[in-house]
Amino acid sequence: MSDCLFCKIAAGEIPSAKVYEDEVCYAFQDIAPQAPTHFLVIPREHIASVSGVNAGNSAAVAHIFEVIAKVTAEKGIESYRVVSNIGEQAGQSVPHLHFHVLAGRDMTWPPG
Ligand code: 5GP
Ligand code: ZN
Repeated sequence: MSDCLFCKIAAGEIPSAKVYEDEVCYAFQDIAPQAPTHFLVIPREHIASVSGVNAGNSAAVAHIFEVIAKVTAEKGIESYRVVSNIGEQAGQSVPHLHFHVLAGRDMTWPPG
């Protein structure tokens, strides 16, 4: 999608601090970290949010969870939170599917 911030980040058109990449997904440091570890994992394909996941693109989502498991294990992170906000009320500010990976501090439940 030509006018999407995260499509541009995945394409390297806007700089970011890379954590991991492959042909399906891209992971990078959040610009405003909410925990000592806070990176985002996005599909290279534009999907607006979890609400846009379907049988035709869900393989990318499964792959992203494999990547999250692999990258956190490589970093020695045993406890972490994965968050995806869907829609304005839930706090989604960028309309390209992304999974926040947060770790390194105590977290509350339920979330605020
Ligand atoms: P959301 O609010 O949609 O769940 O998450 C969007 C996240 O993207 C936020 O945590 C925000 O800090 C991050 N973000 C927004 N713009 C940029 C950017 O240009 N670069 C990076 N690395 N992160 C961004
Ligand atoms: Zn996009």
